[in-house]
Amino acid sequence: MKKEDFKKYGYQLIDWVADYLEEAEKYPVKSTVRPGEIKDQLPVSPPSQPEGMDNILKDFNHIILPGMTHWQHPGWFAYFPSNNSPASILGELLSAGLGTQGMIWETSPSATELEEVVMDWLRQMIGLPEDFAGVIQDTASTATLCALLAAREKATDFATNEAGFPRILRIYASQEAHSSVEKNVKIAGYGRKNLVHIATDDEYAMIPGELEKAIRTDLKAGFKPAAIVATVGTTSSGAVDPLKAIGELASEHKIWLHIDAAYAGTAAILPEKRWALEGVEYADSLVFNPHKWMLTNFDCSAFFIRHPEILTRTFEIHPEYLKTGVDTEVKNFRDWGIQLGRRFRSLKLWFVLRSYGVEGIRKIIRKHIHLAEIFRDELAKDKRFEILAPVYFSLVCFRLNDGRPEEELNVFNRELLQAINSTGKVFMTHTTLKGKFAIRLVVGQRTTEERHVRLALEIIRTKTEEILKQ
Ligand SMILES: *Cc1c(COP(=O)(O)O)cnc(C)c1O
Repeated sequence: MKKEDFKKYGYQLIDWVADYLEEAEKYPVKSTVRPGEIKDQLPVSPPSQPEGMDNILKDFNHIILPGMTHWQHPGWFAYFPSNNSPASILGELLSAGLGTQGMIWETSPSATELEEVVMDWLRQMIGLPEDFAGVIQDTASTATLCALLAAREKATDFATNEAGFPRILRIYASQEAHSSVEKNVKIAGYGRKNLVHIATDDEYAMIPGELEKAIRTDLKAGFKPAAIVATVGTTSSGAVDPLKAIGELASEHKIWLHIDAAYAGTAAILPEKRWALEGVEYADSLVFNPHKWMLTNFDCSAFFIRHPEILTRTFEIHPEYLKTGVDTEVKNFRDWGIQLGRRFRSLKLWFVLRSYGVEGIRKIIRKHIHLAEIFRDELAKDKRFEILAPVYFSLVCFRLNDGRPEEELNVFNRELLQAINSTGKVFMTHTTLKGKFAIRLVVGQRTTEERHVRLALEIIRTKTEEILKQ
């Protein structure tokens, strides 16, 4: 592509993205294509000759766009958000333009040192103790895997890296822990049956007494407890495991404590939500995702670790071709995670933190929480609806409950969710809470306003009436 063309299309695409961010609302939130519909429109073989940008962009508009589900739509209430912002997009653009690969300090000193600095800013923002060091991972799943690998080596005095598992190691997480914990237990070689699911209380938080029982039973059986994964803001309902009580057990038995705060960690930048991380001083590691709720384009996951030397000893490799003269003076992030090559992700984070300032981000997070509370309060006024879990952050779990048997309620609410989403105006997802089908509404999209939440309420009521009439 000629430089002039690059500029022409570049400006054109910036215009497109700028409009998109304001007008995402004109699309149905959730793509309506059927499986295979996109593939059917694409050639099976790659083009042998160059094609012009006009053609490529035409196909983007006609083929790709209809197959998009719009995460930046203000009616996005599904899963958890993955929001972005103009500042983040510009940072991402520069990172792509520089095309740097920051595996070691020498391959771009700025990539390493900016990451150190912005990660320490984040550490301060969520109130972590000073001895936590940060590194950006692609996702929370990967960060938790890193934690479990480091815990594995710590528990076996680095013997597992050398010769495989010398004994059975056990991992503890609540029944409500994210599926990535189970996946990582498999990947890290612990074996799925060595993941002990701890029961939760009425508010879906881990019961420390049950954890204690499980640890004692395992010790008696000759197993070695290796790590506890506590969740702050569970995926199903936003529950908060009691870190202090869990931390005391971890510390008593010298078990690695990892905190998964993928979604809710962002809320800890608000003084009034700091309580959620009370007890964090016991933690060995913590992850939260700026790519969920902190206006930073996917992917960008913030992983903090108290003893980075355990992490680097777990991962380090010293091939001749990666040795440099400054290795003793700098951080080489290749030893802080699984991948060798690393994207320059701190650039977009830096852009976000500077262009909003901490206060600017706080304002948006507070607004989201406030909107979720409005939703909960308004919905609860209608006695046919039931709020199924406490709303600590911006996630509300609810269902219609008009007194019919549980089985029928589950069928009804599933149908209701489908009807809500078929409007294309809003998108919500579901979970089950103690066997009950629950609809989840999460506020976290940057452009979501009160009117979008009110529209969601109106849609819920209308669709409920429609189904009840059938
Ligand atoms: C979303 C989520 C994850 C997974 O996040 P990824 O960054 O997509 O891996 C893990 N844990 C919790 C509690 C989550 O909500």
